[in-house]
Amino acid sequence: MKRGEARGGGGMGVLAAGWGFVGGRWVEGVEVRHERGAILSVRRVRGAGRGVILLPGLVNAHAHLELTFLAGELRPAPFPEWAGRLMEERAKRGPREIEESLREGIRLSVGHGTAAVGDFAWQSRNDALRQSGLRAVSWREALGIAPGRAGEAARRALGFLERRTATWTPGLAPHAPYSCSRELYRLLHAAAARARVPFATHLSELQEEIEYLRTGGGAFAAMLRRLGRDTGGWRPPGRRPVAYLAEAGVLRGATVAHANYLTARDVATLRRARAAVVWCPRTHAFFGHPAHPARRLLRAGVPVALGTDSLGSSPSLDVRAEIRAATERGFTLDEALTMATKHGARALGLRRAGRIAPGCAADFTIVAGESPADALAGAVTGVMVAGRRVTA
Ligand SMILES: [Zn+2]
Repeated sequence: MKRGEARGGGGMGVLAAGWGFVGGRWVEGVEVRHERGAILSVRRVRGAGRGVILLPGLVNAHAHLELTFLAGELRPAPFPEWAGRLMEERAKRGPREIEESLREGIRLSVGHGTAAVGDFAWQSRNDALRQSGLRAVSWREALGIAPGRAGEAARRALGFLERRTATWTPGLAPHAPYSCSRELYRLLHAAAARARVPFATHLSELQEEIEYLRTGGGAFAAMLRRLGRDTGGWRPPGRRPVAYLAEAGVLRGATVAHANYLTARDVATLRRARAAVVWCPRTHAFFGHPAHPARRLLRAGVPVALGTDSLGSSPSLDVRAEIRAATERGFTLDEALTMATKHGARALGLRRAGRIAPGCAADFTIVAGESPADALAGAVTGVMVAGRRVTA
């Protein structure tokens, strides 16, 4: 996006590494100069920085850091049952515990070498991420399936649209098509376009979602009845999730979490809408979904980023573990790293991040190691955002 994201950072600096992941390839011996938060130059220097691996800042493109308190609490279960347990656990926590949980999520993220995070926020304020030093989008989540209450739900979310900073951006995120009305999607998509902030949603994640949109029945209908939620005359669109949002005019430029179930037509629709997809490999495995269509999406030209999702479904907030999981599912290390850097930046709406190149943001993940093979296993020795060290 905006020039600001590659500026406003620390002073001048030089980084030397034995290996750097530059432009999607491994380069031996690199020296990177940066100034005021942006990369000035990248050059090969034989014998530079032995024992250091320099990666573009790793991006966790889908997280719910305020749910960090869920670590180890929830076991795999059919999604509606799992979501019910999540809501029960969340209801036990007060605002202060939620803020502390978010801060713990930030600390863990930095420790794992994350430089940028796309975070869905429901209860927490923006402050913790805005002040963290991480590059972040705080996507304010909205909920409300009753069409008549869309205005109220949208107003609540819009109340969190604070001014962006050099490293932090607010965003808007209707939760999912089974929990938000078409009206709410439209209000927030239009508001995000007006405010020029990123727009995200969960989409085509579940078979139950596909059924609910097709017939209005199934496990989600039962769950909403059990919770006593007013659906206020919501009618199933009788469409698949991707087609539904595209026809509602709210898919353009969206960042879509999951997209686990896609037809060939869905893939083409996502590409035409210039949407980005976030695949969360370990959460995907937690729920036992069939193989993710990441390869088909990439072939069609849809960027696929990586995310952890919350600790309610992921064993850790470690993006490198997601990269490893992607390599175990047929992607090369370079492909998976590209997903977690270049495509991650794209999913967060950042044009000048996710790459080690002149003019891009001076965001780096620094790892100890002698060769590219150590990139996922070596100790994280530093995270830099806009030319500044971020400390946990
Ligand atoms: Zn999520």
